[in-house]
Amino acid sequence: MKECNQCGKCCIKYGDGALSATKEEIDLWELFNPDIFKFVKDHEIWFDPTSGIQLTRCPFLEIEPPKSASAQTKYTCSIYLDRPEDCRHYPSLISEMIRDECEMIEVIDLGNAKQAQIKLDTLMRDSRSSG
Ligand code: SF4
Ligand code: SF4
Repeated sequence: MKECNQCGKCCIKYGDGALSATKEEIDLWELFNPDIFKFVKDHEIWFDPTSGIQLTRCPFLEIEPPKSASAQTKYTCSIYLDRPEDCRHYPSLISEMIRDECEMIEVIDLGNAKQAQIKLDTLMRDSRSSG
């Protein structure tokens, strides 16, 4: 199990209407982060603030400036510290990582899913408890 390499697959896959935010998160955005709250509609995320149409891509997903011409594209989250709980918890299961082709997973993890889950839970501890 490796650290996340910011390949962006998860944000690209789930940013098109598959994410949810809790009532508490939405209430906090409304109070302190109007630039996030404007993408919420009827307690769901993410919607175009002008048209009200659901976005096909998370509006906070950004491409990191490449460090070299041959570097792999890396993505960042422009609301990292305020991102929804759904995002803070991903990835949560080995099966989900395999399905999504998450690049944290290594060949050795495929042979021992139980051990891989323990490594994942250790790596994700800070992310899941933040916010
Ligand atoms: S809010 Fe951030 S972590 Fe969540 S899908 Fe968007 S870019 Fe990814
Ligand atoms: S798919 Fe996995 S490696 Fe890629 S950005 Fe998401 S968590 Fe990180």
